[in-house]
Amino acid sequence: MSKQILLASPRGFCAGVVRAIDIVNLALEVYGTPLYVLNEIVHNAHVVKDFRNKGVEFVRTLDDVPAGCRVIFSAHGISPEIRKRAVARELKTIDATCPLVTKVHLEALRYKRQNYTIILIGHEHHEEVVGTMGEAPDHIKLVGSSEEVDQLDLPANARIAYLTQTTLSLDDTREIIERLRLRYPQIEGPNVNDICYATQNRQNAVQHLSRTAQVILVIGSANSSNSNRLVEVAEKAGAQAYLINDTHRINPAWLENVESVGITAGASTPEFLVNEVIQYLGQFGYKEVQEVQTVDEDVHFALPPELEKTLAGRPTEQMRD
Ligand code: SF4
Repeated sequence: MSKQILLASPRGFCAGVVRAIDIVNLALEVYGTPLYVLNEIVHNAHVVKDFRNKGVEFVRTLDDVPAGCRVIFSAHGISPEIRKRAVARELKTIDATCPLVTKVHLEALRYKRQNYTIILIGHEHHEEVVGTMGEAPDHIKLVGSSEEVDQLDLPANARIAYLTQTTLSLDDTREIIERLRLRYPQIEGPNVNDICYATQNRQNAVQHLSRTAQVILVIGSANSSNSNRLVEVAEKAGAQAYLINDTHRINPAWLENVESVGITAGASTPEFLVNEVIQYLGQFGYKEVQEVQTVDEDVHFALPPELEKTLAGRPTEQMRD
């Protein structure tokens, strides 16, 4: 049997990431620099570096944005507190929060209004979690594992609901929700969970791939939550899996006696990195590439209204002539 590459499909950019990147590109085109982005627009080192080279400044706090300048909020979302501070500082803002993250914020607000205690399943300090918790800080308790469910100190008849970060592992989340339901049978929540379509599809695809590929390379940055989850899913399914930012991170020893290598990419990973990895593997004899598609994705999100409005008011090429 010749050495082969199995390519997961879907992989790479999701609709929320495409939208966030489009927003920065359009903002650069329409407004130019200075242009600021609060946090990384998406969690990928190559995407961020590319925008830095185009003059975009990435900041960790709004204090680093000069008064009157324009700042884009990243795809992971922000807390209302940040929004208020931007208004107070008279900054011009564009919100690139993924609509699926906004949906979780709205659910948190709804439960808060109805005076629920909200159990947010997610990872501490992740920007999405920080933003969601900011919607209802006095109502939300964060849990990251089943053990933490056991440590919850709420009355058995508490009025509670759960929400989840969008980029978790499907299996881990299912386990935590089951534990929550055992302790609090009255708990309410979304029909399944808030894990987004892109996370689910990429996890299912890599799980499928792990049945045949001996080694799985997950292309994504170390701080990308959904990429890390892809590694875990592949390992759980029996493959040897590695998270790599790009070809420089591949250790040839991983490929010894390996006939089939699976490749996937996190939701914030550009496709050119996938192509580079395929080319790199070619020198080790992996010439045959087979795409393994588990589902057809066709999801698109509209641009934020503040940007749509500006674009609509722009003179067309014809008008400019
Ligand atoms: Fe939105 Fe899901 Fe992509 Fe996150 S991974 S940006 S929630 S579509």
